[in-house]
Amino acid sequence: MESKRSAALFNEAKKFIPGGVNSPVRAFKAVGGNPVFIRRADGPYLIDEDGNSYIELINSWGPMILGHNHPMIREAVIKAMEDGTSFGAPTEREIRIAELITHMVPCVDKVRMVNSGTEATMSAIRVARGYTGRDKFIKFEGNYHGHGDSFLISAGSGAITMGNPDSPGVTVGTAKDTLLAPYNDLEAVSRLVEANKDEIAAIILEPVAGNMGCVLPEPGFLQGLREICDDEGIVLIFDEVMTGFRLSKGGAQELFGIKPDMCTLGKIIGGGMPVGAYGGRKEIMEYVSPEGPVYQAGTLSGNPIAMAAGLAMLEYLNSHPEVYVELEQIGTTLVAGIKESLTSLGLPYTINHLNSMYSLFFTDQNVVDFESAKTCDTGRFGRYFQGMLQKGIYLAPSQFESLFLSTALKSEHIDRILDANEAVLKSL
Ligand SMILES: *Cc1c(COP(=O)(O)O)cnc(C)c1O
Repeated sequence: MESKRSAALFNEAKKFIPGGVNSPVRAFKAVGGNPVFIRRADGPYLIDEDGNSYIELINSWGPMILGHNHPMIREAVIKAMEDGTSFGAPTEREIRIAELITHMVPCVDKVRMVNSGTEATMSAIRVARGYTGRDKFIKFEGNYHGHGDSFLISAGSGAITMGNPDSPGVTVGTAKDTLLAPYNDLEAVSRLVEANKDEIAAIILEPVAGNMGCVLPEPGFLQGLREICDDEGIVLIFDEVMTGFRLSKGGAQELFGIKPDMCTLGKIIGGGMPVGAYGGRKEIMEYVSPEGPVYQAGTLSGNPIAMAAGLAMLEYLNSHPEVYVELEQIGTTLVAGIKESLTSLGLPYTINHLNSMYSLFFTDQNVVDFESAKTCDTGRFGRYFQGMLQKGIYLAPSQFESLFLSTALKSEHIDRILDANEAVLKSL
């Protein structure tokens, strides 16, 4: 595949943008080579600046659950633009999207819109601290909650990939209020809670992790956290920026039947525009300014164009439950095919999968937490990634990411992915 123009653009980009990209994982550092510069996208395809097209398995890191450039979203955006791009004053669409979110997501009685997942998690922790009057919180190793200072501690994909899990610039003072536990380890959580009695405001987690590769909660883990939080007056926060509106219409909390006190949303909620949100129980959300004392604001929050895209997406998902059946079938077919190839090639690798999220881990260990994820052969993953790219399949450029499927993948695309996968695995 020609990649001359992408290579030239990357060299030019590096002159003006740190590392040539506006978000680190895009730079292909973990897999080698130059990033592909994208000109446009449509349905299941990304088309690069050299004119190559790729079948998509990452979908803008999740948002494009219906595939790229969906006519329904495009039309909603164009229609909204005709009335102006920002007002800095309330609009009716903001009520409609908030109402719909409270209807779709079980734990949400009230919701505040922000502009990214990072803002959502930072704000949710602040509110949980304000509500409980406590300072500390627990997060899990390998879970990513955006790049807020207090979360950049064992933060999964981007950070592991860069080899500096604790970023310079995060102060010791900030880091000391973030307590870490291994994912799926309830005992460790109990010990932390015991050792920090009445000091823990919140436990935050990805209810299905996607940022150390796809890692599922073991049976009883989410329920156990719910019980600990109930016993100790701790706010349970599900970070559903990835899983929200993806694993089901109501996210992981609906799928597993565990109601957190708060949740954070992003990615799909904006239909491809920069949007995040946090919400939860009424008495907690009433702590948010101007109703309550916890300050949180945003000049462009609830932006009319972003709300139009998000509302179109959520209305579609809410009224088309068959999307989730279809996504599950796509995921099951794809993963079954990959497993078949692994068996026939005698390769011992591990696949974790739930609905439209999956990861192929280059390890023979079960991957249940960050430690086990780190047993992967990342060099081999890099060669696999490059091989797939050459065959026109675009994967996340890191072993420590989940893949995200869209309904734009039809059986002809799945066949092409499986053929490429088997050929590349054989050649490694
Ligand atoms: C992507 C992600 C975030 C951060 O969202 P941004 O919009 O990139 O700031 C937070 N939490 C989880 C679980 C994510 O996957």
